Amino acid sequence: MTPEGMTPERMTPEGMTPEGMTPEGMTPEGMTPEGMTPEGMTPEGMTPEGMTAQEKTLPQREFMQYDVVIVGAGPSGLAAAIRLKQLAAENSAELSVCVLEKGSEVGAHILSGAVLEPRALNELIPDWQARGAPLDTPAREDRFVFLTATRAIRLPTPPQMHNAGNFIISLGNLCRWLGQQAEALGVEIYPGFAAAEVLYREDGSVQGVATGDLGIGRDGEPSARHQPGMELRARQTLFAEGCRGSLTKALFERFALRQSADPQTYGLGIKELWEVVPAQSQPGAIVHTVGWPLDSATYGGSFLYHLSGNQVAVGFVIGLDYSNPYLSPFEEFQRFKTHPAIRPTFEGGRRIAYGARALSEGGLQSLPRLTFPGGMLVGDSAGFLNVPKIKGTHTAMKSGMTAAEAVFAHLQGGGGTEVLGYPERLRHTWVWDELQRVRNIRPAFRWGLFGGIAYAALDTYLLRGKAPWTLHHHADHTALRKAADCTPIEYPKPDGKVSFDRLSSVFISNTNHEEDQRSHLTLLDASVPIQVNLALYDAPEQRYCPAGVYEIVRDEQGRNPRLQINAQNCVHCKTCDIKDPTQNIHWVVPEGGGGPNYPNM
Ligand SMILES: Cc1cc2nc3c(=O)[nH]c(=O)nc-3n(C[C@H](O)[C@H](O)[C@H](O)COP(=O)(O)OP(=O)(O)OC[C@H]3O[C@@H](n4cnc5c(N)ncnc54)[C@H](O)[C@@H]3O)c2cc1C
Ligand code: SF4
Repeated sequence: MTPEGMTPERMTPEGMTPEGMTPEGMTPEGMTPEGMTPEGMTPEGMTPEGMTAQEKTLPQREFMQYDVVIVGAGPSGLAAAIRLKQLAAENSAELSVCVLEKGSEVGAHILSGAVLEPRALNELIPDWQARGAPLDTPAREDRFVFLTATRAIRLPTPPQMHNAGNFIISLGNLCRWLGQQAEALGVEIYPGFAAAEVLYREDGSVQGVATGDLGIGRDGEPSARHQPGMELRARQTLFAEGCRGSLTKALFERFALRQSADPQTYGLGIKELWEVVPAQSQPGAIVHTVGWPLDSATYGGSFLYHLSGNQVAVGFVIGLDYSNPYLSPFEEFQRFKTHPAIRPTFEGGRRIAYGARALSEGGLQSLPRLTFPGGMLVGDSAGFLNVPKIKGTHTAMKSGMTAAEAVFAHLQGGGGTEVLGYPERLRHTWVWDELQRVRNIRPAFRWGLFGGIAYAALDTYLLRGKAPWTLHHHADHTALRKAADCTPIEYPKPDGKVSFDRLSSVFISNTNHEEDQRSHLTLLDASVPIQVNLALYDAPEQRYCPAGVYEIVRDEQGRNPRLQINAQNCVHCKTCDIKDPTQNIHWVVPEGGGGPNYPNM
């Protein structure tokens, strides 16, 4: 199925190294300079006409051709890659599949709870146990708790939160293992390479992606270490970037994919991994809380997942439709751990890791059109998370597997450029059924915590997910009220035992970015942070960013405020891209390999 004479094997992918995709002096067959930029095939913004004189003298990009390119080595992208290769093997077909991952290794940017529902994994790799998949903590007990400032009241566990048969895992480690399974099947995975740009053919269809140039300095000029990006061209490109993918966002616009969908709505999840004292360890225990420290109008809650080896994953998720600009998700999380019913779990323990990541919470009514000429969206890029379950891994994997099946059939049949079979197949899977049933639960929390819980009970027990109506979503960035209409929130100082500050937290996320590069946090209008955000909302980016990237700094007299962006601290959670009230912040990928280095989140 590989186009004649263009097999990746002949293009020496072994030559791809983190320093540069091809070693110096290597001109693989099929990579003639003419072939690199065929007329009319240069990506948007990169036309030779638009280049500066200096850029014209720089080395041009090379390209590699695959049958399928997948952007993102999360569970959806890896499940798609594995399924494609399985199908190729079953049908004795040749199929080249490449996965790009912006993290320094597979798993480095993966952050999840995580309780895994193994349904998709059972389908994809039925003998996962024999193959040593890292699912070693079976779920044993579920607790659902309502917190007041001083009390913890146990409530009946909602049916969606029953976890019998599930496993407490590190999703990063599961992805590392999935990556090994994919490579064993012949998938080429390139960690440390961020897809920075979508490539289009002359007919407007997606032709693949290009990785970003390395060595473009802060001043926007190529530095001594400049290396051009690489074009990865494909017959079909799968975007598996996870929640709020930066290329996915461009595709939404280019193909008007969100035209008939509700706005996507999001949560921000902040997580820590702890080693607790043995007496506090309860492997298999799963605790969820709602209530304190959030007020009842703010959607959110915590999770505590007890792993084996005296480890506890603790996290807090806050709906990004919160309205008080003074709210700080990070400090709400820190305060949560000081609750008298929660603190003992962590006292005497050691915090091992920290990180944050946004989640797509809109569900079925927020799903965009899933396909476009030349490509498609899978996993959280599209938004398949089941909110009442707080689980998106099984649905992300199943969407990737379904996309793979549709792509394989499509490429064999040689149909047009858009794989319409993917959404069609997906509608007949359990993913659709699952999301259909719970579609009204998240939007019902617009009536506050108690209204939401009451509606969820009605919807689940009485209507059984078959309500003849669908509740709708609004965009999160429109939810912020003006600071003048809100009360500032006083957060307690961190005690350094169970609660901490942002900087010491970011330190243990092992975040690193090459210093001499353009900021990947771009502002459409540089005046907005002060004239709009500070003036009207008291600069909420100072509080919603869980990594302390945004700071308002003033001169010695306390005047002339300006926004300082500490981009090197960014943990790639994407919250600023979502929550900025005028959508002025635009997150783009930094140089590949930059960002957090999560060990086992
Ligand atoms: C705090 C929290 C708790 C959660 N708890 C659970 C849980 O308990 N159970 C559960 O099932 N689900 C849970 N989820 C949801 C689950 O983690 C996601 O649904 C799932 O990870 C989605 O998989 P994905 O492959 O779509 O995206 P992701 O897992 O986000 O993976 C995307 C990958 O693509 C890479 N990438 C992105 N853009 C680019 C680019 N341009 N170039 C190259 N690489 C790129 C990223 O670095 C990343 O590795 C939780 C999520 C969060 C944030
Ligand atoms: S800068 Fe944006 S994406 Fe980076 S950590 Fe802060 S909020 Fe998240």
